[in-house]
Amino acid sequence: MNTPHERVARYQDPSGRPRLARVHGQGTSLQPLEGVRLEPVAGDLFGERSPTGEPWVEARAVRLLAPVLPSKIIGIGSNYRDHAAELGRPLPTVPKVFLKPPSAVIGPGDPIPLPPGSERVDHEAELAVVLGRTLSRARPDEAMAAIAGYTCLNDVTARDLQKIDGVFARAKGFDGFCPIGPWLSVGLDPSRLGLRCRLLHPDGRVVLAQDGNTDQLAFGVAELLAFVSNIMTLWPGDLIATGTPAGVGPLVAGVRVQVEIDGIGILENPVIDRADRADQRRAAQGG
Ligand code: MG
Repeated sequence: MNTPHERVARYQDPSGRPRLARVHGQGTSLQPLEGVRLEPVAGDLFGERSPTGEPWVEARAVRLLAPVLPSKIIGIGSNYRDHAAELGRPLPTVPKVFLKPPSAVIGPGDPIPLPPGSERVDHEAELAVVLGRTLSRARPDEAMAAIAGYTCLNDVTARDLQKIDGVFARAKGFDGFCPIGPWLSVGLDPSRLGLRCRLLHPDGRVVLAQDGNTDQLAFGVAELLAFVSNIMTLWPGDLIATGTPAGVGPLVAGVRVQVEIDGIGILENPVIDRADRADQRRAAQGG
């Protein structure tokens, strides 16, 4: 396992203002933020940062925010050999590119609402590449210099709607379908990172649903950046979700879902039912 140079979180201070902090310490799978402390820094997520000298804060005591606010999220389909096999799809000969809307982004701890109209919503644990500068028409050997860092991403997907529609905008575009975090990990080698998805059930059961490694990627990070940047200009903060390993499965209300990646940390989100508007009105009217 390699060690990042720095991990940088965004969090909300007591006045509600978003702040940046250097991350210290490591939680556990049952308590991802246990013992994690934040050292406030001034500066830019994509540039220089320095400590402000303010007291450190407990990560559990504040609200962590999505580490970046992307202008777009580029997803890559069937990019792990084992996941393509489980879906019965051949490995693509060129990267299969789709978009998730920035409105789907939520941060660590924010709930994933299950939308009415879908009977099957799946988790997909993914390594996300975060752009640090503008990148256009790059070669693979130029692309890596544009990376700010990496974060965990859950490419939540309404599997039934994906099959019905044939295109992905609805199935992958619901509000809350793109949890990212818990922070940005800078200076990581993405070529051999273990990534896992865990489901924590209300009765205490813990299920390891996905257990993969980025060494199984069909198209690696440099290749993906080059490929995508020859289609669309990538801007600072944009995300490339590099695909998911085998083991995708359903999310049910009440579970907490975790995406854990070596050298980054654990992104955890509770899953809830989203009442439709009619239900909400009835509830508001008391019947
Ligand atoms: Mg995916």
